[in-house]
Amino acid sequence: MVKCSFCGTDIPKGTGKILVKTDGKILNFCSSKCEKNLLKLKRKPREHKWTAMSRAERGKTD
Ligand SMILES: [Zn+2]
Repeated sequence: MVKCSFCGTDIPKGTGKILVKTDGKILNFCSSKCEKNLLKLKRKPREHKWTAMSRAERGKTD
């Protein structure tokens, strides 16, 4: 199981999108929403409350 590189959601095999960058880094995306946010809008996952990274950072405050 791989996790979305942006929001941290588990991506079931056969779904989502895998992007291999020229420097060898592999990015997994669960949806085009995450792909757009990371690549096009250059957003940081922790700045968005719908990502696992920001959820972990905020702890139980939700
Ligand atoms: Zn995602």
